[in-house]
Amino acid sequence: MRPSLTPEQLERLAAILDRRFREVRREIQESLERSAEEHFIDLAGQVRDSAEEAMADLLVDLGASFLDRHIREHRDIELARARIKAASYGVCTDCGDPIGFQRLLAYPTAKRCLPCQEKRERGHPGQGTPSL
Ligand SMILES: [Zn+2]
Repeated sequence: MRPSLTPEQLERLAAILDRRFREVRREIQESLERSAEEHFIDLAGQVRDSAEEAMADLLVDLGASFLDRHIREHRDIELARARIKAASYGVCTDCGDPIGFQRLLAYPTAKRCLPCQEKRERGHPGQGTPSL
């Protein structure tokens, strides 16, 4: 259960995640601000006191779109950063093998090694293994 990443590799991946985290955060923010402006203009200023409520509504309204993808990515990055802190980053959550630096470079938020990811995408994970 020990990640096979060197401290240098981990640092590089953490930097990529940090940068992407800020980018996604800014994109979400900009998208919200754009929507909020339109929203506020529509309502002729009457909701300015409850900006947070309006934001919450907007998050729901915009749920299925661009923003949803970004919020999911934002959460994935947060989880990856938490795994780095917990020293479990870079270890496949399914089989416990190292995920591999090259795969993490391409997908810094990857939770599984490639064989497990492919197995999962083919569906029926765990079929033929009766034990828990
Ligand atoms: Zn695996």
